[in-house]
Amino acid sequence: MPHSAVGPRVLLRQLREVMAEPETAQKRLDRIVVLIAANMVAEVCSIYLLRPGGLLELFATEGLNPDAVHKTRLRVGEGLVGTIAREARPLNLKEAQTHPQFAYRPETGEEAYQSFLGVPILRSGHALGVLVVQNRAQRHYSEEELEALQTTSMVLAEIAASGDLDETLATSVPRATDAATLHMEGLALAEGIALGHVVLHEPRIEIGNPIAEDGARERLRLEDGLDTLQKSVDRMMSRADVARGGEHRDVLDAYRMFARDRGWAAKMHEAVASGLTAEAAVERVQNENHARMMRMDDPYLRERLHDLDDLAHRLLRILTGQADTAAAGELPKDAILIARNMGPAELLDYDRSLVRGLVLEEGSQNSHVAIVARALRIPMVGLVEEIIEEVEPGDPIIADGDTGAVYLRPTSDIEKAYAEMARFKAKRQERYHKLRDTPAVTGDGTEISLLINAGLPVDLPHLEESGAAGVGLFRTELRFMIASAFPRLDAQTEYYNAILNEAGERPVVFRSLDIGADKVLPFMAQVKEQNPALGWRAIRMALDRPALLKLQVRALLRASAGRDLRLMFPMISEVHEFERARALVRQQEAYLRDRGHTLPERVHLGAMIEVPALIWQLPALLPMTDFVSVGSNDLCQFLFASDRDHPRLAGRYDPLSPAMLKVLHQIVRETEKHNVPLTLCGEMAGRPLEAMALLGLGYRSISMTPAAIGPIKEMVLGLDLGKLQPFVENLLDLPDHSVRLALSDFAKDHSVSV
Ligand code: PEP
Ligand code: MG
Repeated sequence: MPHSAVGPRVLLRQLREVMAEPETAQKRLDRIVVLIAANMVAEVCSIYLLRPGGLLELFATEGLNPDAVHKTRLRVGEGLVGTIAREARPLNLKEAQTHPQFAYRPETGEEAYQSFLGVPILRSGHALGVLVVQNRAQRHYSEEELEALQTTSMVLAEIAASGDLDETLATSVPRATDAATLHMEGLALAEGIALGHVVLHEPRIEIGNPIAEDGARERLRLEDGLDTLQKSVDRMMSRADVARGGEHRDVLDAYRMFARDRGWAAKMHEAVASGLTAEAAVERVQNENHARMMRMDDPYLRERLHDLDDLAHRLLRILTGQADTAAAGELPKDAILIARNMGPAELLDYDRSLVRGLVLEEGSQNSHVAIVARALRIPMVGLVEEIIEEVEPGDPIIADGDTGAVYLRPTSDIEKAYAEMARFKAKRQERYHKLRDTPAVTGDGTEISLLINAGLPVDLPHLEESGAAGVGLFRTELRFMIASAFPRLDAQTEYYNAILNEAGERPVVFRSLDIGADKVLPFMAQVKEQNPALGWRAIRMALDRPALLKLQVRALLRASAGRDLRLMFPMISEVHEFERARALVRQQEAYLRDRGHTLPERVHLGAMIEVPALIWQLPALLPMTDFVSVGSNDLCQFLFASDRDHPRLAGRYDPLSPAMLKVLHQIVRETEKHNVPLTLCGEMAGRPLEAMALLGLGYRSISMTPAAIGPIKEMVLGLDLGKLQPFVENLLDLPDHSVRLALSDFAKDHSVSV
């Protein structure tokens, strides 16, 4: 069996010489096929490159009919060449013509050749083309020959993807904009519609020169790179927040295992020994791993290969010194960021004015990046599988954060429809914006206090923009959820102070830390619970571990020096819990007074009504509180014993059911009796029909997501409370599942905008 004449090192050296000469890309390819054929003792060597529209075109050949060049074309998946491109793996055949995928192309004259060895030209796991050698005799190509061809194809990939190509070849590199539209479905995580262009959060890495000039130097570079990589993974592992365990740690454990994996390192060393630079060797091994990953059905193994992929990426960044994320580079003015996952701080690194949307392969409702995206009003879709595989930077893309749909390279029809929708939304926004300074007073003269829910400093400007009366719920835990370490006293004080300053005259109601259940702090050990929503969370955790609450209360008191502090406690289930929390505040006031600190002008303390048991204790509770606020999200989940995040239960029970409305009504009556201010701050406050029902029940203060202020105010302005109130009271004893329809009819009959 003939072996390659001189081996890949010599071939690579010859390729480098070809590349160094000032020639057109076509001439280079013509010379390269001759070199490869000679080197591999093959009668034929051909290069097929992917053309726009998914066609593989014969670009250069030694041995086949030269007239077939730029004429012979195969679709991806068609023939042997198309199969290699589709499956991203080599084919090594003794008798090519008996293979079921063989497609005969008479113009090439290839019927004379029996044996066939083809490898994909891969870049970042994508096939850019196929490199083939053929021989007349029936022969099986050796492992070394396959290796040599793969190494060579690596170089071709870098050439094809580099910017040094002339016109002919440049048009042959697959331009994703010409590729087909792709419709993908994910999970809607932050509302809004985004039209723009793809920016990879972690840009693909440019290798530059794939051929080594000094093999020994490249070997050292690879060793140093691996060493730096191992150290950086060890550092990550020892960070306090990771060391305590959790999912995070499992991923890093796998990382550490791979970072020390001998097999992986050995493969990369082999690639360097064959004549590649260190970075090209990493990419070469990564390509194979990537192709394997794409074929893997087992989700666990796939995930592990994903980890290895991530690690190879890190190593490439170390070797090339290229920036970690696109935030540091130039962005188009309508960037839609695509990433596997992202931390909240990474999103905050981007220039907000340029980011239109965010699409992740992972992510969930409560992931921190989703929380930040909602606060920044960046439409976001999560759980879009393998989108990174499909996109090219600069591809046009639509992300629909309302439905979870993603359209990659949309057709002009889809684009028009979405652009129209976006314009319509913008117009509606304009209408709401005009209402900004109009007081929220019903048609029959009752003033309603419309407040916003907030949780991050980026929410505060919405106060001014929306014309809301204040912040009805400031979820303090968000700051903790996105931090990598526990915020100390001074940092917290400064933070609350900044929030109060930003709000100016408008009141802010802070809620003490509501952690546990779905709200996990990255730096705190998470206790596994059977029923986390019913578990050790919120005020329960705060009272059992008072150090956290003490620190937070002290910071809030200091930040409010000389002005009013409004503070409420989440998940109060019995009066005694409120009393203990209040005692803790009093103790902190005394502590600060003794040390000569200025105290707040007034401290208003409130309880959140989220646990049904508290409703029967209102006569005992209300005389102690300065205000109360209904957390209708939790109240509804506990009232119906129905997990608020369970996808199968979503929408099963309606907050507009007689039971829920009756409970809400009772709260109004009790607070009126005791003359205690009442607000409702769950999601229902931000939905016009639900909010209308609340006003009918007697609520005069509601707090909602900032984007809802406009639509709710529009509803309020057209409302006749005198008519609505008796109407709603009449619904309370119905046996119905929901009274939504009746309320809708009322709105229609009275021209209320809902
Ligand atoms: C609620 O439960 O209604 C509420 C406002 O609190 P959160 O949604 O933060 O639990
Ligand atoms: Mg709650």
